[in-house]
Amino acid sequence: MPYSASRLETYRQCPQKFKFTYVDGIKTASEGIEAFMGSRVHETLETLYTDLKFCKTVTLESLLDFYHRSWAKAWHDDVKIVREDLTPDNYEALGEKCVVDYYNHYTPFDQGRTLGIEHRVNFDLDPEGQYSILGFIDRISQPKDKVIWIHDYKAKSHLPSQQDLDEDRQLAFYQMAIKQLWPDIEEVELVWHYVMFDQEIHSRRSDAQLEELRQETITLIQEIESATDFPSKKSGLCNWCEHQSICPQFKHLFETKDLPPNEYMGEPGVQLGERLVYLQAEEEKIKKELKQVKEALTDYTKKKGVETVFTKDHKILVKFYSNIKFPGRKDPGRQNLEKLIRDAGLWDVSSSLDVYALARLIDKSGWDVEVVEKIKKFGTPDQTPWIKAFPKNQRRGW
Ligand code: SF4
Repeated sequence: MPYSASRLETYRQCPQKFKFTYVDGIKTASEGIEAFMGSRVHETLETLYTDLKFCKTVTLESLLDFYHRSWAKAWHDDVKIVREDLTPDNYEALGEKCVVDYYNHYTPFDQGRTLGIEHRVNFDLDPEGQYSILGFIDRISQPKDKVIWIHDYKAKSHLPSQQDLDEDRQLAFYQMAIKQLWPDIEEVELVWHYVMFDQEIHSRRSDAQLEELRQETITLIQEIESATDFPSKKSGLCNWCEHQSICPQFKHLFETKDLPPNEYMGEPGVQLGERLVYLQAEEEKIKKELKQVKEALTDYTKKKGVETVFTKDHKILVKFYSNIKFPGRKDPGRQNLEKLIRDAGLWDVSSSLDVYALARLIDKSGWDVEVVEKIKKFGTPDQTPWIKAFPKNQRRGW
């Protein structure tokens, strides 16, 4: 299977999506409107630079005319709009603004000689040619002798940080390809055009960084090729995933959301889910009430001076265990206690200071008596109640 930056990124983002798309080859007509708009802006900029290459005069009007015709021609019913407050017209206008800003920013387009547009690259990561990368470079330009700029147009609504782009793999792969194609080139600059923001961001890669990426990528491809399990990985990107309706994370929703109300309520998954939600809420309520009753029972037995309370069919045992209560994580004295334990070389034994374990351990520890006494000073005597109900005729617990 040929790999590209986007295939590898898909695997990183969600192995299940990778499997649907590239292993099972499932194709869907559905695409997000952001991707649709990005493709139209790409086509328009491709046309711009192709016309310029042939010395054609390109006016902004003719470019926008191309953009709108391309939009109308490519539009289809499966373009998905996630944001309910926006319409296709809003996106078409946004794409138009990207083209206008780009045109005004770069006209008369004399920043460098264009060497390639939508330039296909296919290069090997290893000498045996076992692992290779395929890609299309939006544009390659030469601003001066022995210097190459690799351009990529992004129509994303999020402007990444410099650090994000310094770690980006896609254009770094293209740099590897350029270095194989033209070994005499002395400098390669990676240039992103974030057209929604009219921003141009640059980055560079050293040979050492490219080598690291090469090895990392081979390892990732080996992992993909030996994978037998492709888990789904939910993220914000799911909203734009074209496989939602067959994905294990969302399939049930798609299968049930349009059922008539009576069928919906009778659907076994819905029924079990509703029951689980109800029982969990009840469990929480019961836990809370149980805690309150135990506290009240503890007070009652203390006041009455009894250790067992009898009901019609049960006897309830209430016992108290003497204990030492050490300061919790946020309590005063905690830091000093931790220091004392560390200084005494007991940190590993008391396992990152679990105060409950410490309370259980301290008297049977066999530690230095002086240290034990010092540690005990951090604690306060406490009594832990133990409460349990038994049937009246059961002997257990007596
Ligand atoms: S919907 Fe989300 S979890 Fe499911 S395949 Fe797509 S990206 Fe992965």
